[in-house]
Amino acid sequence: MPLWKCSVCNYIYEGTEPPANCPKCGAPRERFTRLSEEEERLVLRSRYTNALHMEIYTALQRLVELAEKGIQDNLDPPCVKIFSEVKEFSLTTMQKIKAELETHMKKGKWG
Ligand SMILES: [Zn+2]
Repeated sequence: MPLWKCSVCNYIYEGTEPPANCPKCGAPRERFTRLSEEEERLVLRSRYTNALHMEIYTALQRLVELAEKGIQDNLDPPCVKIFSEVKEFSLTTMQKIKAELETHMKKGKWG
């Protein structure tokens, strides 16, 4: 399916032809240009990477939950140490992912 870009707001639309109006800014169809094959490839690539980031983020949220249960369980110090490390790693990585995705959005990498 071809990709079309709104020249006013950079919204990317997927379809056989551009929409009558931009769903984001309302600009008319004439303001859309078709992406080149190279641009299409880049958009699809970054969509894939962003999807992986989101999946990892969700998995890390689950790790934080499990680590907190372990910390509460408090069987012995070595276990609590491991759970605390898992929690800290997960929270730090989640922040990194958020920061990275914000960078992508500013660069208009969200397809
Ligand atoms: Zn637009």
